[in-house]
Amino acid sequence: MAGAASGRVDAGHRRDDGLEHRRAARLAEATAKALREAGEAVVCASLAALDPAELKAFRTNLLIVSTTGEGEVPDPARPFLNRLRAADLNGTSFNLLALGDSRYASFCGGGQRVRAALLERGAREAADRQRADGEPTATWRDWLNGVAEIIGVRLGVVEAHKPDWSVTLTLVERERLDDPTQGNTREIWRLSFAPDETALDFRPGDLLLISPAEGDPPRCYSIGASSLIGEPRFDLTVSLHVWWDAEGQERLGLASNYLCRQLQPGAKIAAHLRRHPDFNPLEDPSRPMVLVATGAGIAPFPGFLVERAKQDNAGPVWLLFGNRCRNGGFFYRRQFEQWCEQRTLTRLDTAFSRDADDGHYIQDRLTEHGEELLRWLVEDRSALYTCGRVGAAGAAVEQSLHDIIARHGGRYGLKPDETLARWRAGGTLRFDVFG
Ligand SMILES: Cc1cc2nc3c(=O)[nH]c(=O)nc-3n(C[C@H](O)[C@H](O)[C@H](O)COP(=O)(O)OP(=O)(O)OC[C@H]3O[C@@H](n4cnc5c(N)ncnc54)[C@H](O)[C@@H]3O)c2cc1C
Repeated sequence: MAGAASGRVDAGHRRDDGLEHRRAARLAEATAKALREAGEAVVCASLAALDPAELKAFRTNLLIVSTTGEGEVPDPARPFLNRLRAADLNGTSFNLLALGDSRYASFCGGGQRVRAALLERGAREAADRQRADGEPTATWRDWLNGVAEIIGVRLGVVEAHKPDWSVTLTLVERERLDDPTQGNTREIWRLSFAPDETALDFRPGDLLLISPAEGDPPRCYSIGASSLIGEPRFDLTVSLHVWWDAEGQERLGLASNYLCRQLQPGAKIAAHLRRHPDFNPLEDPSRPMVLVATGAGIAPFPGFLVERAKQDNAGPVWLLFGNRCRNGGFFYRRQFEQWCEQRTLTRLDTAFSRDADDGHYIQDRLTEHGEELLRWLVEDRSALYTCGRVGAAGAAVEQSLHDIIARHGGRYGLKPDETLARWRAGGTLRFDVFG
């Protein structure tokens, strides 16, 4: 039995093609794992490394095929398709899952080409072909369960990927973001890590898990970069955690101290990559997003904008950022202002609570622009992402939204509690808050 993926990590492809290729490869591995765990002998290979004649040796073949350009198979799979046109596949059985994006006319075109060629050469399709639109995990799970039933294999729980991915990283850049000359600032650093392995698939909002020392439980840090754009880099924004013990002694958080003060460029660390799909940018790039951050909670959002800046049909993005002071506390200011000029960032509002000429908190800004915010969420189908500390970002933002709906929601027939619950459950509201 062969689980075959057309995917190969190839940084040269267009953004959505690269994502699809990685997904195909990831799902092929997960397919092979599920079948092996059910006691089957499985060979998992990229179509790039497969000769069509080899398909005859297996009881059945499972193919996961992505699409590139105008409905083509990805470049690495082309030789396979060419050889397929001359192969004799009578007596060969296959099942095909095509990955695609229905916003393109060529939806699942790559899979369709491979399927047509297989049928033409005499292969028999055991289970109906499936087409996955966008994030493919649910369709893949149904497809695999259906195939397993047909071929008489009892699968256990079908998992799309390992929960955490072990990575070795080198710190390539560190930069202090706050300005200590401004007095009472929190110490915040940007750290950029290069992974040893380049074939990694991660999005902004995914998490890096880092242990400060062997045996210490890992701490989570939000990733502000995307493997879809440029060289793979894990960009973190880390706030040095300061606390006071029972004797009133100032103590530093273990992991944040290690990252902010001890780790030097060139140092290698072991970490884990945890996927966090609920806090990734929307799959549909044309849908607007509202990003709300306080302090180090800005961490994932540069990555959101890096992705949007490269998307042809990118929708509006509104960033609301709050901190104590503008001077030394407006992190990534230059980049955000550039994204404003390029119209990647449609709107930018800030609140600096300790500045004499401001004195506002993020919740004040939300309330001030409540009517407009509600219009984005209801009429424009925006998703609102909030990241930061539990109190400042979590509870405060939720309370503001409650008040905004109570004040302006009547025109849409919205009631605060049930609307917030529905928005949370449906992904309109996404919170990533930490203590
Ligand atoms: C999903 C998620 C995403 C996150 N993203 C980010 C991010 O992008 N950036 C960021 O800066 N942070 C982020 N965090 C927070 C981060 O994971 C850590 O919690 C934070 O850096 C503090 O860890 P630390 O090891 O420095 O502190 P710790 O050493 O773990 O100290 C934390 C607390 O533990 C207690 N404590 C520790 N040692 C002792 C002791 N010996 N005795 C008694 N009490 C003790 C104290 O109350 C202290 O305040 C995120 C958290 C989550 C859950």
